[in-house]
Amino acid sequence: MKSYRILVLPGDGIGPEIVREAVRVLTVAGQRYGAAFTLTEAPVGGASIDRAGVPLTEEVLKTALDSDCVLMGAVGGPKWEGLDYSVRPERALLRLRKELGLFANLRPAKVYSALANTSTLKREVVEGVDIMVVRELTGGLYFGTPRGVETLPDGRERGVNTLVYTTPEIERIARVALGIARKRRKKLTSVDKANVLEAAELWRKVVTKASKDYPDVTLSHMYVDNCAMQLVRDPRQFDCIVTENTFGDILSDEAAMLTGSIGMLPSASIGDSHHALYEPIHGSAPDIAGKNIANPVATILSVGMMLRYSFDMDGAADGIERAVCRALDKGLRTADIYQGGTKKVGCKEMGDAIVGELSGKG
Ligand code: NAD
Repeated sequence: MKSYRILVLPGDGIGPEIVREAVRVLTVAGQRYGAAFTLTEAPVGGASIDRAGVPLTEEVLKTALDSDCVLMGAVGGPKWEGLDYSVRPERALLRLRKELGLFANLRPAKVYSALANTSTLKREVVEGVDIMVVRELTGGLYFGTPRGVETLPDGRERGVNTLVYTTPEIERIARVALGIARKRRKKLTSVDKANVLEAAELWRKVVTKASKDYPDVTLSHMYVDNCAMQLVRDPRQFDCIVTENTFGDILSDEAAMLTGSIGMLPSASIGDSHHALYEPIHGSAPDIAGKNIANPVATILSVGMMLRYSFDMDGAADGIERAVCRALDKGLRTADIYQGGTKKVGCKEMGDAIVGELSGKG
């Protein structure tokens, strides 16, 4: 039996309650699909600031580096908002991404038939949507230099940011996306702005070249403004999207909104090495923390992504997605996705139902 080491970082707010349910699902998936998971739990974000004065201790970072992957809840909350940016809870996440070399952010946006009515778009537009946005995470406009704001001799100020990508940076994210598309419906849309940006022209050239090694994947290119439009016009045309950091930040949020609920959306950040970090896309939701009303599904689906992308356990990942679907089809809803005619349940009860479905006792 294969065995894996996972660092579990529940974090703040609703983090501990949603991660608890996700860990139960992970444990059952291991038993059912034949893998042993050794879990180490540690504080991160505000919880770590309270204990150790910093959002991420060197010891926890070392454990992350020694682990096969990290499962995280969420960090942050009003208690730590007055702190200097350098020691805010969110710094933990940025440092983890950097030290683990995570350059690809995977954000699926899938519309569950039972929830299609919660989208702000019409059911007939969103039903069946299943998109994977692969966002480059460590380059582009957010990190390029020169950057900053300078005061010119005449007193005017000048703000500068630089959109910069090198061939290897583009090639590695292209290969991640092509590999993911290969595991899905084999369609990849590379999104850029090559009609006006030279860096995007290079992006398009390198992605096209990399795609030659994936002849089974159909690659197409789309300008970012058109993509933003197409996502709300006809989102079902997309399978996998790959794009640079800033475009990805915006498009992945737009794609997420097609599904109608932030509590349902998982994510993964991966790199060249075996390291990876799995977390829901939402934050620590301090407004509902500790009340057993948070939706644990985003974190549970993050465990599904972990099994698929870190451990190649596609059967177990499919099993988790099926278990979530069945719980929804039976009418169970946490408060965020509740509609009349369904049954409102708490975080723990939703976890119970998914665990039950996964272990065949649903
Ligand atoms: P949020 O995602 O925490 O909450 C936004 C809204 O969605 C809230 O009304 C919340 O109750 C609801 N919500 C979020 N997750 C939910 C779930 N699983 N089930 C039901 N409802 C859910 O965003 P915010 O309020 O802007 O931020 C709160 C804190 O989280 C801040 O400190 C912020 O910095 C932090 N944050 C952390 C991360 C992260 O850890 N990756 C990401 C975003 C925000």
